[in-house]
Amino acid sequence: MADVKVKEKLISDFKNSCRSGGFKVTPQRTIIYEELISSEDHPNVELLYNRVKKRLPDISFDTVYRTLMTFNELNLASVVAGLSATKRYDFRTEKHYHFICVRCGAIHDILDVPFKFDTPVSIKEKYNPSNIRIIFEGICTKCRLK
Ligand SMILES: [Zn+2]
Ligand SMILES: [Zn+2]
Repeated sequence: MADVKVKEKLISDFKNSCRSGGFKVTPQRTIIYEELISSEDHPNVELLYNRVKKRLPDISFDTVYRTLMTFNELNLASVVAGLSATKRYDFRTEKHYHFICVRCGAIHDILDVPFKFDTPVSIKEKYNPSNIRIIFEGICTKCRLK
């Protein structure tokens, strides 16, 4: 879990991003964001919905789903892996590597190794990619010890 100082900074950046992106800072959005930044496990919509529901019992799955898409658009979160409803979200928007355990599906942040990748010119020219993701796959320590 991000520490209190880091969280405060994230929340204040969140408010600024909402406002500059033309979105109101509603209590609902704030709570969804707070739950997201408290989630180190790169949750999918369903997991996050269950966490948010504890604080906002009346919230709908669809609201959480749509709010995460808004966060994505505002660069407040990104999709790490998965398709459609199984998308897994990440509140860390600075570039970092991920490790995904192919057995249990755990997604770990690799934050102690600087992110470095030079996109080959031919790829730049052909696709002009807007984002690069690097994901390592393997068996996590927990699964290996089982
Ligand atoms: Zn595992
Ligand atoms: Zn991450």
